[in-house]
Amino acid sequence: MSNLDPETLSITVKCLKCGGKFPSPIFMSPKSTFDSSVLENNVVQCTVCGQMTGCDKENFVARFKDGGFVGNDAL
Ligand SMILES: [Zn+2]
Repeated sequence: MSNLDPETLSITVKCLKCGGKFPSPIFMSPKSTFDSSVLENNVVQCTVCGQMTGCDKENFVARFKDGGFVGNDAL
């Protein structure tokens, strides 16, 4: 396992409808599998309110074993 391509620890999405946070149903690992297309135009079902919500880099964070992240670190 290269340090340059760390495994994904968690992916969290913040629902734009209810504000709830839930694990992304789209799980990608390692880090190299993330690219800009992954973070755009995604729609996922919120496990908190059951509604469909958009998922992009503003309301999404993926954290990696090396301490890095992709997305919004405030989540
Ligand atoms: Zn929701």
